[in-house]
Amino acid sequence: MMVTTHVAAGLLLAVSVATFAPDFAIPAAIGAIIGGILPDIDFFIGAHRRTLHFPVYYTVAGGSVGLITIMTPSSLTVGITVGLLTAGIHSLSDWFGAGEELRPWERTSQRAVYIHPRQQWLRPQYVIRYDGAPEDLALTFALAVPAALTFDGWLRAIVIIGIVIAGGYTITRKYIPRWLEL
Ligand SMILES: [Zn+2]
Repeated sequence: MMVTTHVAAGLLLAVSVATFAPDFAIPAAIGAIIGGILPDIDFFIGAHRRTLHFPVYYTVAGGSVGLITIMTPSSLTVGITVGLLTAGIHSLSDWFGAGEELRPWERTSQRAVYIHPRQQWLRPQYVIRYDGAPEDLALTFALAVPAALTFDGWLRAIVIIGIVIAGGYTITRKYIPRWLEL
């Protein structure tokens, strides 16, 4: 799935924070943006879908910090909780996409995401056929709409820019491997 889809999924968490604890809406949104992007930095450094993708650890850590946050909520704890949970959802949801290959529509990779505690790769499920597929763009859009309606100012601008980037990525997705190989 596209990084914008992952960020949008996290922003949905931030929307629920904004609904029940409006004071923490902004730290929650910042946590969602960072947590949505962070795992995919391993595309550039280390092993993609392994070095910074932790389906289990992010989620467990997010749940644990979440308990602390419920007892002593602060901007920092809310931001970290939403960030960890978003990174966990990101890592886990990559399982439902394609493998970690450059041309994921070819379906030659059996590696969707690495499960560190079991030391094994999960096989791609292709519910979203590949990152930047039309259904991925539809998912970005559907997940981002509540955030675009809830937030205003610069946050709303970021959400809208994210949707536009996702559209551009979707249109150009199949050319990207050629550009990377230049
Ligand atoms: Zn990812």
